[in-house]
Amino acid sequence: MQFGLYLHYPFCRNKCSYCDFYKDVYDTSLEKKFFHALRIETELASEDPFLQEATIGSIFIGGGTPSLVNCDLLADWLSVLRRHYDVAEGVEFTVECNPESVTLDLLQIFKELGVNRPVFGIQSFDTKTLQLLGRRHVPDHSRRAIYLANVLGFRNFGVDLIFGLPNQNSRLLSSDLDQVIDLEPPHISFYQLTVEENTKLSKQVASGTIKLPDQELTIGFYRGGCEKMAIEGYFRYEVSSFAKPGFECRHNLRYWDGGDFLGLGPSAHSFIDEQRFANRVDVQQYIESLTSGILPRTVDESGVEERMTEAIMLGLRTSRGISRSAFTERFGTSLEKRIDRKQYALLVESGHLIPDRGSLKLSEEGIYLADEITRRLLK
Ligand code: SF4
Repeated sequence: MQFGLYLHYPFCRNKCSYCDFYKDVYDTSLEKKFFHALRIETELASEDPFLQEATIGSIFIGGGTPSLVNCDLLADWLSVLRRHYDVAEGVEFTVECNPESVTLDLLQIFKELGVNRPVFGIQSFDTKTLQLLGRRHVPDHSRRAIYLANVLGFRNFGVDLIFGLPNQNSRLLSSDLDQVIDLEPPHISFYQLTVEENTKLSKQVASGTIKLPDQELTIGFYRGGCEKMAIEGYFRYEVSSFAKPGFECRHNLRYWDGGDFLGLGPSAHSFIDEQRFANRVDVQQYIESLTSGILPRTVDESGVEERMTEAIMLGLRTSRGISRSAFTERFGTSLEKRIDRKQYALLVESGHLIPDRGSLKLSEEGIYLADEITRRLLK
């Protein structure tokens, strides 16, 4: 039995205007205290009987800005992790990196520590847009980061690109895609910008100081991006995830398939043996709890209905769709019993859903309306 290990590294240099992830401003002494607490959390969490029998199949360090990390502290934590858990041979090990903080030394150390999949948050190649979003990097940082990853022989790496950006038009998006594809990353995450509540961006949009492309244009961007990446040999295996064959992110596939994962760090979530936990969001409270020897978790009491809903939402976003047999095995009921039969029939008739005996998945047209179709199907 394998599970994924997620670490939320909670520090950034500054706050980007669109971001609502939990993070604190980077501070060396707070980082030290965080790693001290993390080591305790790692040890306490390993006492779970399910995890003692299982093997870590993927490690993913996200944030925040993990490329700011003090590598000595990271190495120290990894040795605690390897002492207390069984880590699979050839484990996929991803670290998210902000281009401006990537250096040859950093990537070299990451590689020595076992990282085999850096992911670079490029987001756009338009300098003005990056400034508007509050990002600290410029396009040259992105190109240099990928160059260094190639120099060090990382076979597997990914980039993140956002569409639906302020003032974006087809020409700007096309230029972003061309420049990304030129760098030949094995994996591209292609996300739509979402306006989260209580962010600087939401205020700018509400006041009219920033204008975002309308919905029709944004769907056109996505469609155009999908077509371009398909021509270049990228396979869309999830709505926002595109990979060359064999370079799908195994860690994320585990989430979408309803697999087990342990989340460490503030605000991290876990799903272990059909039980959900959420860690405290605030880094100070996280540290205080762990230095008192208490896991900073609350159990998520959501029941089987919520888990079925989530399985349908996530499964429909993948190219494989929802496996009927896996659904029945997991929940003890058939997929048909959990979805709206009338909507199902209408969506099959309109060509948005592809049913077969083994799975239920979205058609090419359905992918563009994934959220709306999911809403209609769930009763
Ligand atoms: S660097 Fe990433 S996590 Fe940090 S504020 Fe910006 S978008 Fe959010």
